[in-house]
Amino acid sequence: MQQLKDQKAVLQEVWKKRPLIISGPCSAETEEQVLETATRLANTGKVDMLRAGIWKPRTRPGSFEGIGTKGLPWLLQAKKITGLPTAVEVATAKQVEDALHFDVDVLWIGARTTVNPFSVQEIADALKGVDVPVLIKNPINPDLELWTGAVERVAKAGINQIGLIHRGFSSYGNTEYRNAPMWHLAIEMKRRNPDMLFINDPSHICGRRDILLDVAQEAINLDFDGLIIESHIDPDKAWSDAKQQVTPERLAEMLDQIIWRREDIPSEELHAALEKFRQQINQLDDELMLLLSQRMKVAEKIGQYKKDNNITILQTKRWNEILERACKKGDKMGLSKEFVTKYLDAVHMESINHQNKVFHG
Ligand code: PEP
Ligand code: MN
Repeated sequence: MQQLKDQKAVLQEVWKKRPLIISGPCSAETEEQVLETATRLANTGKVDMLRAGIWKPRTRPGSFEGIGTKGLPWLLQAKKITGLPTAVEVATAKQVEDALHFDVDVLWIGARTTVNPFSVQEIADALKGVDVPVLIKNPINPDLELWTGAVERVAKAGINQIGLIHRGFSSYGNTEYRNAPMWHLAIEMKRRNPDMLFINDPSHICGRRDILLDVAQEAINLDFDGLIIESHIDPDKAWSDAKQQVTPERLAEMLDQIIWRREDIPSEELHAALEKFRQQINQLDDELMLLLSQRMKVAEKIGQYKKDNNITILQTKRWNEILERACKKGDKMGLSKEFVTKYLDAVHMESINHQNKVFHG
């Protein structure tokens, strides 16, 4: 009983630690692999929690689908040896029950499960009356409502320690990343849940080792609370996600290379300097809004002219001209083509809406 109490106390400390670093293999494979990974991770002194997949929902059949319940005692043993709390992915009520039976400290809901409200509800029902922290990965598709829905289901089950894991979103024909980070969605989710633990998963975003550090740094720059990074004693021979895993020692090196940032600003002086820049930004934003509203007034005049002369609102040739002209100009001014296109797209849609109002007026 005393031991159980200590475990809970350790976990509470770990949950509050910033940055919170979770690592371990994509999958538990053998007892030796789990114990050696855990020991080497603990030896780095930089890891707070051990992760390992026991049940692996795979996109296609035929790949390793997890060692199953048999691997849970290995994790318990790893915890006994290293003192690291453990985290496991669960996708069904039975898995929740088994994981808790073997004293897993933190459960996480994987991206392929978050997409399915039935599965999430099944997990939530199994969690009723249980005191265990739950991490919820974003769904594989870029849908914040699904992610939020999963959070709500788990919260309604009475779980009060909930964390979020941003692991990127799948999109057809991904190139650089295995799962596109779509940072803007992570930022919006953080805005909606300012007090919730928010962790980044560079491993599943990157799908490869060489860009892990860049993504991890980007997450820290964006004020994430921690990282979950897969590690393996022999990454190339891993039974799942071999390309993205690193050795515990390489992980420690990466963690040393990251520039850790924090949201609060340390000195008065820095605060004053930043405040000055922020005022400039506010001023410029006000001017941009004013210009945009003037632009819409001109669009309304054009709308009236088109209406009076029976001309369509959309003039594709003119639209292409605007885009081309702006991209060329933007390039000279240090604005990326991607940004200029997105910005003009939004302006154009707003302009069409204003013209539509004139047409229906
Ligand atoms: C994992 O963490 O090994 C995993 C399967 O992740 P995701 O649910 O993000 O694909
Ligand atoms: Mn994995």
